[in-house]
Amino acid sequence: MSYSLPRLPYSYDALEPYIDKLTMEIHHTKHHQNYINNTNTVLQNLPKKYSLMSVNDLIMHLDNIPEDKRTFLRNNAGGHANHCFFWTILKKGTILQGYLKLIIEQNFGTVIAFKELFENIALAHFGSGWVWLIKTGEKLTVVSTSNQDNPLMEKNIIETSGVPIIGLDLWEHAYYLKYQNKRLDYIRAFWHVVNWDEATSRYHALIS
Ligand code: MN
Repeated sequence: MSYSLPRLPYSYDALEPYIDKLTMEIHHTKHHQNYINNTNTVLQNLPKKYSLMSVNDLIMHLDNIPEDKRTFLRNNAGGHANHCFFWTILKKGTILQGYLKLIIEQNFGTVIAFKELFENIALAHFGSGWVWLIKTGEKLTVVSTSNQDNPLMEKNIIETSGVPIIGLDLWEHAYYLKYQNKRLDYIRAFWHVVNWDEATSRYHALIS
């Protein structure tokens, strides 16, 4: 068994003008596909049990992977997991409401304060990586990770582990065609395309 590129649940132009069609197409068919190809190539040379794991299980247990393949899978299986998540968390026209809105207000004061924190952490992140809203223990917090690290990875690998609720790709390949050096504009455009319905169901799955 090997991993394959998931179909997007929308067309490449569905997030225009916030995320442009060409960026989506290259991001999905070239960048994401490349992480998958790299992961599959390495898995061919590992015992079969690894290929039978979901990509999330794989990145949650990097310690189990032979040391000489660990960093490669951290980067590439991490890339596969991150992008699978990212596509699901994008949709135009949903609204943050109900229980998740309440929980965000409890954790950050106001939705505006949460968004400012998310933007600031995203902007302060140096180089490639991701910014996330995660559930860690009983609370929600905002963290950034480097390269293709994911909050599901263990504490000995990343600073703060947790389960992603939303996440934004901060690699230049995610925005450079449209936004060039204007990373803040891209980060702020994200608020127009967060799939809050998906975020809410992900949160509910964690507490039920
Ligand atoms: Mn990416």
